[in-house]
Amino acid sequence: MPKLTIDGKTVEVGAGKTVIQAAEQAGCFVPRYCYHPGLSIAGNCRICLVAVEGQKKLQIACNTQVSDGMVVHTQGEPVEQGRAEVLEFLLANHPLDCPVCDQSGECDLQNFYMAYGRYDPRFAEQKVRKPKAVPLGPTVMLDAERCILCSRCVRFTDEVSRTQEFGIFNRGDRAEVGIYPGKTLSNPYAGNVVDICPVGALTDRDFRFKARVWYLSSSPSVCPGCSKGCNIDIHYTLDRPHLDDGARVMRLKPRVNPEVNQWWMCDEGRYAYKAIDRCRILKPRHRGRALGWETAVLELAGQLARIEPKQREESVAVIAGTNLTTEALYLAARLFGEGLQIRNCSAELPVLPGSHDELLIQADKNPNRKGAELLGLAGEKARPAEPWIQAALDGKIKSLWVIGEDLAARFGEETVKQLAEKLELFVYQGSHENGTAAQAHWVLPSAVYAEQAGTFVNCDGRVQALTKAFEPLGESRPDWLILTALLTRLELPAPGNEPAKIFEALAAAHAPFAGMTYERLGLQGLPARLDGAGGLGGPAAGAAAKAERK
Ligand code: SF4
Ligand code: SF4
Repeated sequence: MPKLTIDGKTVEVGAGKTVIQAAEQAGCFVPRYCYHPGLSIAGNCRICLVAVEGQKKLQIACNTQVSDGMVVHTQGEPVEQGRAEVLEFLLANHPLDCPVCDQSGECDLQNFYMAYGRYDPRFAEQKVRKPKAVPLGPTVMLDAERCILCSRCVRFTDEVSRTQEFGIFNRGDRAEVGIYPGKTLSNPYAGNVVDICPVGALTDRDFRFKARVWYLSSSPSVCPGCSKGCNIDIHYTLDRPHLDDGARVMRLKPRVNPEVNQWWMCDEGRYAYKAIDRCRILKPRHRGRALGWETAVLELAGQLARIEPKQREESVAVIAGTNLTTEALYLAARLFGEGLQIRNCSAELPVLPGSHDELLIQADKNPNRKGAELLGLAGEKARPAEPWIQAALDGKIKSLWVIGEDLAARFGEETVKQLAEKLELFVYQGSHENGTAAQAHWVLPSAVYAEQAGTFVNCDGRVQALTKAFEPLGESRPDWLILTALLTRLELPAPGNEPAKIFEALAAAHAPFAGMTYERLGLQGLPARLDGAGGLGGPAAGAAAKAERK
């Protein structure tokens, strides 16, 4: 373990580490363009210059290996002079079009010029002209004049997506980045090159000119697009509802989590934000007639309470989606399973086949199937829900409550229409209009993931927290709130009136979550204890829940 001194701080790092990694460990920031911790080292931008005692010339921190006793300075006159000179070269042919550049406000040319540049430009010659506003594929636009040839995009498509679209062509000041002839940038991870391009050369065609980044707010969350649970930041604005049909979310960006998605996310997840504000169910309704929440909860609680306990056991079914938060699934189990003693309560439906790959994308497009499994609502311990559809068509099941699962997408619109005719009570609780919402007798509008706090458990068993970015649209409510209102109305014990409290109750009742709180989960999540899953309504879970209530 070499021990070195960086800006007066002693730091011990693993052998083979570089000075930039050691500086990070010591909390000393070194600027970088070509260096990216998820890519191989190129060492071509030269902005990460540092002074190493005993070396005559400044060294690049990204490609200098640490050695025992090394003394490094990341600040001071020679280092900053060196960086200013590097910037002067990098900006010699740059168009300096910040006022119309989409990267403005999050551009490291701007940032480092302000930090280390501030020189008087000496370049009086005609700048080299290069291609501008070139669409490279459906999602990415290139402005070759802004490119500083750091090669991050080339290395990303060589090493991460392994699709090899990018190359650097020509030489000297004519060198420019581009796509190989006959290729388009349409791989499933293409959007990541925009994130890693340190300047405004690669911009997102979807986001371009929609908003200035300094007007955006950001909220950490988890992508609900598949069971991988990539960590994301939701960038949104509440100030300009007239834009893009009133949409609040402007873009999603990957958030670093070494245990899940590292620095990346897929394009399918990236652009799925558009669904957040489209086709939403905005008010509770009964057979097409809008009504208030209080009436809806009162009526539905009354109908559930009036079903004979014996009948409730057999002739009622509850199907919960594995896209619900763990808190909502837990409350569904508390309300319908434990509270109302409905045996047919499950999230166990076959996983619909979907695209997958070795990098991130999972075939299971549900973000919380593992969470449902750990609660005993899906997997081997759960009752399969699929046969209940036929049982309802045969008249054996008379009441069906569906939460967050579009039956029409699975069983066809005609089947759902027949269900609506046969059933005495058909409730759909969900966020978007769909074939099930169109036929259900009762429709209860749920909030989407960006509108509530909660947790998902990803395919590897990592429990990860969502945070609430903004208020639910219209009169929609988080599922935990809808279920808590029903528990309260039915005078059944409710574990609390906020997600953190519900999660604590869940963690006390189900061994895989033991000891977890939102605070402990933090922004990176924690692995669930996969060796001791609880079980819905099972004796252990029931006893734990009772003990917790006492
Ligand atoms: S387009 Fe961006 S990421 Fe690619 S080489 Fe140029 S500056 Fe680097
Ligand atoms: S891989 Fe899955 S979780 Fe990750 S961004 Fe894509 S859809 Fe979302």
